[in-house]
Amino acid sequence: LRRYVCTQCEATHAPDATRWRCDCGGWLDLGPAGAGDDPDPVSLGEGATAVALATIGGRVVRAKLEFLSPTLSFKDRGAASLVGLARAVAARRLVADSSGNAGTALAAYAARAGLPMEVFVPASTSASKLAQMAAHGAEVVAVEGDRTAAATAAIARVEQGDAFYASHVYNPWFWEGTKRFVCELSSDGPGLPDVLVVPVGNGTLVLGAHRALRELGALDRCRIVAVQSSACAPIAAAFAAGLDHVPPVTDRGTVAEGIAIAAPARGADVLAAVRATSGRVVTVTDEETAAVADELARQGLFVEPTAAAGAAGVLRLTDSEAAAGVVVPLCGAGLKAVSPARRATPGSARRGTG
Ligand SMILES: [Zn+2]
Repeated sequence: LRRYVCTQCEATHAPDATRWRCDCGGWLDLGPAGAGDDPDPVSLGEGATAVALATIGGRVVRAKLEFLSPTLSFKDRGAASLVGLARAVAARRLVADSSGNAGTALAAYAARAGLPMEVFVPASTSASKLAQMAAHGAEVVAVEGDRTAAATAAIARVEQGDAFYASHVYNPWFWEGTKRFVCELSSDGPGLPDVLVVPVGNGTLVLGAHRALRELGALDRCRIVAVQSSACAPIAAAFAAGLDHVPPVTDRGTVAEGIAIAAPARGADVLAAVRATSGRVVTVTDEETAAVADELARQGLFVEPTAAAGAAGVLRLTDSEAAAGVVVPLCGAGLKAVSPARRATPGSARRGTG
């Protein structure tokens, strides 16, 4: 198997069932491709998602329908790779933390691999996502507090020593999966866009896209515009301030739960990735997100708020950017976020008879 390389001290490590960071505390990346085998992914038929035209704020873009994945979000590509690694290193138990979609994807792929799984989630996670995880047989542990509290609880569990940390934040095999959505655009789809508009919280999609563009030699041909919620925008703030690291912020609460990451562990990597493409980080409000969600739904594309927030980044493009080739991944299905609170929203009074 390809070895890990520490991003701090450059030590290398053979992957095993419990290694998730370097002995020096640094995060791990992957050594060069070709230097060791890649694990076979655990597959549920993910990938090869469709591309459709969509109008966002009056601008016509190409939408890659990532919500058509087996567990209804783009995270399946990463889960396929990461659970494949877990199987290759003979992991016996998986632990993850998630605000929802990574947990649902990992729960499904762990089930497929026959591996027991524990998922630590913020107590506020959508009921539909919790039901999805439980249906796959995962043990779901709700943690009071924000997304960081869930991560802290998961790491404490991993430190007990017998579990594989199936982390979409720390384990670089996750991006080996997520990068494929860009590779597909290049190989099967409409070609690489001039601008890629993606939501960013922990950065799994940005870091995967950057990895793909780097391997395609296309960092100077496709600009990454990363989108945060204005209510929780530490990466946008750091980008605007010209920093190369990301100071934590307070999450003021947003409908875009999947990107509400107040202290992104890989924030510095995300900034570097965006800048390597001459891209930028923008913010959108919950009102803009809701308007774009409605606009998309009326075109037949029902996506969850986090996906709509990413798409709303199209509103921040310049006219010349919008006139060039733009691709927006629509990351998660709308049914994932349907909840009693949403049904009670004024203006949605028309009811079926059930
Ligand atoms: Zn190290």
